[in-house]
Amino acid sequence: MILLVGKILIEGKAMNYDLPVDYTLLSISEKKAVREQYIKEQNGKCWFCRCSLDKEPPQNVLSKPINLKLFPKGFLNHPIHLQHNHDTGLTEGAVHAYCNAVLWEHYGR
Ligand SMILES: [Zn+2]
Repeated sequence: MILLVGKILIEGKAMNYDLPVDYTLLSISEKKAVREQYIKEQNGKCWFCRCSLDKEPPQNVLSKPINLKLFPKGFLNHPIHLQHNHDTGLTEGAVHAYCNAVLWEHYGR
């Protein structure tokens, strides 16, 4: 019985990651869980523009052009992305999809 409870807790959403983590080692479900933890820790704000993740990014970000041809098809379909450092592989935070594109294309992140 105790074992069963322990198992449920480990597999349940109560699990917290010791952030940052190595993005390149995460499975799809782990990326989702890490992204959700960042959203909570950032109080629902974007790591890059600091605006609410359930709203559009601000004009000063949207005014930066992005070349969608450089990104995988459907890149902007998921509104919230998990940003990671492409040099270290470590996660940095949850960002708007558009902010993620701007970070990569304009800042090389
Ligand atoms: Zn943003």
